[in-house]
Amino acid sequence: MLTLLHNDFLPQKVWPQSYGIDLYNGTLLSPKGMHKVDDIGTIHMCEQCHCSLTAKCPSQPVGALANSQYYS
Ligand SMILES: [Zn+2]
Repeated sequence: MLTLLHNDFLPQKVWPQSYGIDLYNGTLLSPKGMHKVDDIGTIHMCEQCHCSLTAKCPSQPVGALANSQYYS
């Protein structure tokens, strides 16, 4: 599921520094939804993202940071 939140075109040098992105294997997340920013933990997400990621055929949420919504 988290692989849908990757953006392979985003160079690592501009990856977010506000959480342990390496712990999430490059998954682009909003630290606002994270319980822990320096360790793996529970992630809260909006209903739209939850529905996209947990559907029978999961898809990248339109509003995902990985969907060209992230700017460093
Ligand atoms: Zn969302």
